[in-house]
Amino acid sequence: MGLKRCEAIVLKSQKLGELDKIVTFLSRDEGKLRGVAKGARKLKQRFGPAFEPMTHAHIVYFEKGTSDLVRVESAEIVRCYFPESGETAAVLACVAELMDGFAQEKEANDALFRLGLAVAGAANEGNGRVALTYFEIWLLRLAGLLPSIGRCAGCNRDVGEDESLHAMAEVGGLRCDRCCARPGMSLGPAQRRFIAESFRTPPSEMATRDPAPVAIALACHRYLRTAIEHTLGRRVKSYSIVDLNLGEA
Ligand SMILES: [Zn+2]
Repeated sequence: MGLKRCEAIVLKSQKLGELDKIVTFLSRDEGKLRGVAKGARKLKQRFGPAFEPMTHAHIVYFEKGTSDLVRVESAEIVRCYFPESGETAAVLACVAELMDGFAQEKEANDALFRLGLAVAGAANEGNGRVALTYFEIWLLRLAGLLPSIGRCAGCNRDVGEDESLHAMAEVGGLRCDRCCARPGMSLGPAQRRFIAESFRTPPSEMATRDPAPVAIALACHRYLRTAIEHTLGRRVKSYSIVDLNLGEA
């Protein structure tokens, strides 16, 4: 209870009545929190662009013992990543929605926090599709939900660099050519290399490559999106905005 100050990433804000907003943010130390920002709709100067998705800020809030909602007192922006419009905005909205989906309430997740900031920076500096795919890989990896991309889940052998792995809808894990009766989505050698590289390379480096590996990232994304939406048990709304802005093919 009482007044607290935290380092946070804003995930979303929704209108509340004529004057206020409800803000969802990932606090570095306390996990996901929701709070009412009084006057945020009317007094724009009080909070500025602090409540755009993926804004990195120091938030002062008051925690009432009786309510799940905190009261947001002030927000001091460290860095606002959200541009006016376009590709990067779509990517950041999507990253924020996915973080909101995977972050647990009142449970600190420092790895996810650092991933979010690194990817927000990479989306600003480089290719949005590559940055988003990088984020999806790590989101699943941190949650322990990314299957092995080096070993077949069927025969348990290490697959060669030039082989593909396939997802089957009814069983978990990725399988080699021999073990997959009805191939659904596949990760080819280039996609497997991209994923393996993202394990050891920062997102800014992957996203600023010239030429950007957009086609490879998109092929990875198709598989990752299915796994993510399956995990959440729902469609991710922002994917349609990303497809609109970045193109799906
Ligand atoms: Zn196999």
